[in-house]
Amino acid sequence: MKRILTGDRTTGKLHIGHYVGSLQNRVALQDAYDTFIILADVQALTTHFENPGLINESIYDVAIDNLSVGLDPNKITLFQQSRVKAIAELTIFYSMLVSVNALRHNPTIKTEAKQYGFDDLSYGFLGYPVSQAADMTFCNADLVPVGEDQVPHIEQARKIIRRFNTLYGKGESIITEPREFISNTPRLIGLDGNSKMGKSLGNAIYLSDTKEAVNQKIKLAVTDKNRISIKDKGNPDICTVSKYHQVFNPSSYNDICEMCKNASIGCVACKKQLSQAVNSLLEPFREKRAYYESHRDEVRAIIETGSEKANQIGNETVEQVKSAMSIQL
Ligand code: SF4
Repeated sequence: MKRILTGDRTTGKLHIGHYVGSLQNRVALQDAYDTFIILADVQALTTHFENPGLINESIYDVAIDNLSVGLDPNKITLFQQSRVKAIAELTIFYSMLVSVNALRHNPTIKTEAKQYGFDDLSYGFLGYPVSQAADMTFCNADLVPVGEDQVPHIEQARKIIRRFNTLYGKGESIITEPREFISNTPRLIGLDGNSKMGKSLGNAIYLSDTKEAVNQKIKLAVTDKNRISIKDKGNPDICTVSKYHQVFNPSSYNDICEMCKNASIGCVACKKQLSQAVNSLLEPFREKRAYYESHRDEVRAIIETGSEKANQIGNETVEQVKSAMSIQL
């Protein structure tokens, strides 16, 4: 069975953008692939090192987000990054195989540095794509489901792996080169019309939001600002709500666009329909979430078991890597 590595930074709860961008793929692929899901608490430190309490609490939040959307703990391996020593070791070895300039020119690093207001990048932040290469390869993942913005990191990881295999493999592929798997809905815009729904941007609907919270957030979503009165014809192409209908209410999307254009639906009714669609997606997740929220010991045991398995596999990979590099007594 081929293997998948995917996961999330533990810097807060996951939102519906994560679901359409990645989580729904994980659920769909868990039967066909040996699925490893990383709770990336070390990577979370690269941006949130001053807030370890948030990172620690988010380990549970993100684990429960994954479990409540339908990932089956008997099929997947859910593990905590900081518990897998092999990832740290591989990161050090791989760091010799990438230049500082290559990391500086990584477009995602540049965008994120700007987003976080980092003028003077820390060594850890600049190097996190190297750590990601270690995440993908400690278990020799074949496939990495990601959003579009993470593709440069996979390309960077492939370069490192190719270099490693060429240098130390003597014609053999010691480490597997992973491929990216991009979702059909790579990026969901924010409720405020921002090009990205983000945990830090305050424009997200969380998987853990109640029905009432979803309704309230959608009520405030940005629409076609030129549509002042219900009699005004709207332009769904510039409306956040219509874009969400396309994703969460696809069977009604064309009708809604038509009705908006000829002013036969008002924004209030349009938003109500969207709220229903989003809530009917989230409702089954809420039941599972309630179970895991009240069984945190079970969640902890799932993470511990997954981390033990990841450690075993990672240790074997490190031995192969060290042997290839002649790091032996
Ligand atoms: Fe947007 Fe719907 Fe209002 Fe049209 S009717 S502007 S799609 S909220």
